[in-house]
Amino acid sequence: MNTADSESIARKLLAAGYVEESLERADIAILNTCVVRQASEERVYSKLHELRQWKTAERTIAVTGCIVGKEGERLQARFPLVDAVVPIGEYDSFIAGLQARHDWSQGEALPQAGRTGVSHFVRIIQGCDHNCTFCIVPRVRGRERHVPMHEVLAECTEAIADGAREIVLLGQNVDDYTDPGGRGGMAALVREVERLPGLKRLRFMTSHPQDLEPELLEVMAASNVVCRELQLPVQSGDDLVLRRMARGYQTRHYRATIERARALMPDIGLATDVIVGFPGETDEAFQNTRRLLEDIEFDVVHLAMYSPRPGTYAAAKMPDDVPDSEKLRRLNDLLALQREIATRKTARWIGREVEVLVEGRDELGRPYGRIRQGKRAVVLGHAEPGTLVDIRVIQATAGQLMGARAA
Ligand code: SF4
Repeated sequence: MNTADSESIARKLLAAGYVEESLERADIAILNTCVVRQASEERVYSKLHELRQWKTAERTIAVTGCIVGKEGERLQARFPLVDAVVPIGEYDSFIAGLQARHDWSQGEALPQAGRTGVSHFVRIIQGCDHNCTFCIVPRVRGRERHVPMHEVLAECTEAIADGAREIVLLGQNVDDYTDPGGRGGMAALVREVERLPGLKRLRFMTSHPQDLEPELLEVMAASNVVCRELQLPVQSGDDLVLRRMARGYQTRHYRATIERARALMPDIGLATDVIVGFPGETDEAFQNTRRLLEDIEFDVVHLAMYSPRPGTYAAAKMPDDVPDSEKLRRLNDLLALQREIATRKTARWIGREVEVLVEGRDELGRPYGRIRQGKRAVVLGHAEPGTLVDIRVIQATAGQLMGARAA
C-alpha cells in the first residue's frame, strides 16, 4: 500500500513538472510513513530528527501516510520543521499548495512514460471496515473507501499504455470491494481488468478469509491472466484466539476456503500471516496453529511475535500475558517448521516448465521475474523485461527458482 501511495505521489509530481533529485539537491522531502508497528513509527521520528540538518526556510518537508491518521496536526506541534501534513490520497491539493508556495517548482513537464515499470500497483480500497483487536490500520487509514470501477479501469489502461504488463490491485481487504457505481464486487472488477488489451498478468492483495467469495476463485481458475496466488492471512490456527482477535471466522471455514481454492487450482501459491504469543494464547492454542501450518503447507508464512500496539483494543484491554521468551520460542519453532515445509514444496518445482513474466535484471545481470504462483524466478538466457518466457526449472530454493529457457 505504501509503495502504491509513493508511486501515486511521484507520478502526480512528475506530471506537475517536478523532478526527482538526491536529498542534498532537493527542495522538497516527502516522508511516506507506516505505523503498523511501533518500530516503524519510531523510524519516522528519527528521520524527522535527521532532516533537521537539511531543513532551511526555502526547503519543504511534507509528511503523509498512516502517521497522519494517527497523529494529525499534533505532528507539526511536535516537529515544527514539518511544513505540510498530507492525508493519504489528498495529493492534488498538496501539490497545488506547493506550486503556490514555490513558483520555481514549475519546470518542464517530464513525459510519464517509463515511469511505470512492468508491474503497476493500483489501489482499489483505502482503509478497512474490520476491527481486528491487534491492528492499528482502521484507526490510521479510516473506514473503507472504494475507488469507482471506471477509475480503476482508467488507471490500469493508462499504466498499460505506459508499459506496465502486470497490474496489482491493492487494498487492506480487496474481497470487500464494491463498485460505488453498482457494477459489482471484486470478482466483477477482476473480470473487467483481466480483459484489458496488453495486460499479461493480474494480481491482487490482500484477501480476507471472512470475505473471500467463491466466485472470485472461479474467476481466477478460469483465467490465463489472473495469477494463481492467494495472500490469505490466517493469524492463528486456534478458534478461541481468532475470536479474541475479532477476525470473524473459524479455522474450519479457513480450511474449507483453502480446500475449495486447491480443488479449482491445485498448484495455487498460498501465503499467510501468523501472529504468535497473542494475549491468551496457551500452549494448546499454539499447537493448533502449528497443526494448521503442517496441514495446509503454505508456500510463504509471514511470522510475527505479538507486541501490543498502543491505540488498539488489544493493547488497552488484553494483558500481554505470554512471556517474551515463550513468544520467541514459538516463533523459532514455526520458522523452523515453515523452512522445512518450504524446502520440501519448493523441490517439487524442479523439472517443471513454468511461465515467467520478466521484470528486470538481478544484481548478476540475469533476467528475473515471477511465475504465476508468485514465486520469484531467474531466467538463464536472454529475456526482455515485460515479456512472458517459459523456463524449465533446474534449481529451486525457498527464495527463488532458476531455469533455462524451455525449447
Ligand atoms: S482486516 Fe487487516 S487491516 Fe483490517 S483490521 Fe484486520 S488486520 Fe487490520
